Amino acid sequence: MSLYTGPVFEMARTQFNGIADYIGIHDDERDRLLLPKRAIAVSCPVRMDDGSVRVFQGYRVQHHLTLGPTKGGTRYSADLDLGEVAALAVWMSWKCALADLPYGGAKGGVAVDPNGISKRELEGVSRRYMQEMIPFVGPHTDVMAPDMGTNEQVMAWFMDTYSMYQGRTVTEIVTGKPVASGGTEGRREATGRGVAFLVARAMQTIGMTASGATAIVQGYGNVGAIAAHEMSLQGIRIIGVSDHTAAFYDPKGFDLAKLNAHVAEKGFLRGYSTQSNIDPAALLIQKCDVLVPAAIERVINGANVGQLKCRILAEGANGPTTPEADKFLDQHRDAIFVIPDILCNSGGVIVSYFEWVQDLQQFFWSESEVTDKLKTLLNRTYNKVLARAERDKVSNRTAAMAIGVEKVRDAKRRRGLFP
Ligand code: NAD
Repeated sequence: MSLYTGPVFEMARTQFNGIADYIGIHDDERDRLLLPKRAIAVSCPVRMDDGSVRVFQGYRVQHHLTLGPTKGGTRYSADLDLGEVAALAVWMSWKCALADLPYGGAKGGVAVDPNGISKRELEGVSRRYMQEMIPFVGPHTDVMAPDMGTNEQVMAWFMDTYSMYQGRTVTEIVTGKPVASGGTEGRREATGRGVAFLVARAMQTIGMTASGATAIVQGYGNVGAIAAHEMSLQGIRIIGVSDHTAAFYDPKGFDLAKLNAHVAEKGFLRGYSTQSNIDPAALLIQKCDVLVPAAIERVINGANVGQLKCRILAEGANGPTTPEADKFLDQHRDAIFVIPDILCNSGGVIVSYFEWVQDLQQFFWSESEVTDKLKTLLNRTYNKVLARAERDKVSNRTAAMAIGVEKVRDAKRRRGLFP
């Protein structure tokens, strides 16, 4: 019986067991590789604007400490639970190992709807959460970053709260901060930019040209909006977008500048158009060249995978595809080229790593240096995944995960039972 339950953790477990079978991991080693090293659950009392006190549940899961500090985002979402956070931490481990970053995976978050509270209340939640985490995190222990529902401002509050406790400014405690607070150029754009870069690589691989190609993006937030913008710079037409309030589809393509202006003003997509509304579930199965899920887990599942009409599935989100859907995709590798999440969205943690390194050295790089280094690392990782997939005749996801899991397993074997 494990602490970690729920559909998202079960998905991480099923994926891991599949990889463990493929690379021949002994039963003795499986729990040690899969189960998180530690999990912290906290209650965060916060005074609300009306004078009442509400208690928000927060979590942080640190998956393994074998390769260095843990690293991972912080999610604010109303129905967040420990199993989901643990699954995200596990995926972070394979992702960091795949990209050769000196980190174990972590993830955290608070069960709160960030759109349902005021900015002052959000600051209260963020500062209290970080305050509760102070004994368990640190620049060489566990470094937080943004995820769904959090942003640069939340990271600035985290950094400030930790720094007040230390009595000095400790920028290296979180990544994804505003540039003015010790963040790096190019972090906000990193994940979406990485997605678009890998889409271009995938197009080269399958012999498709970007000019005239079409894309649909689910989740028009940090990752989705930047990925859409960067793909449009390559000549790809964005014909579908959605967020938690609306979904729009127009085969002629959207004017992203107008779309972005609407989102900047309102904070969401709803109300942008009256003619191009579409059922959010139907959006995913429209014909397009590139489908980018960039919102939540398990949106490509057994029920819709057979109806997908894309040529490339670029997983901007973490865990958007269930193992059941993955089986189908595995059997249809020639029809749909999958860029698996731990590769596709790894631009975020790669540039977070660059930010951490710059903060530790207090020596900052230009945006073009950051982006060039990001592309070099992504390209190397992409080539590694494709070579492994080709060698063993396995899917891109299996190849990517196997490389990550093997790296963590080998490091654990060499070090012994401690980390
Ligand atoms: P975000 O909060 O900036 O944006 C999320 C978007 O998804 C919002 O527009 C929201 O309205 C939308 N959304 C939520 N539920 C939806 C639904 N049911 N259908 C359609 N849209 C929905 O978050 P983000 O940082 O862009 O993260 C998106 C995904 O990318 C998450 O899975 C996250 O774990 C992953 N990711 C993010 C980063 C990063 O650097 N931010 C890095 C790696 C992976």
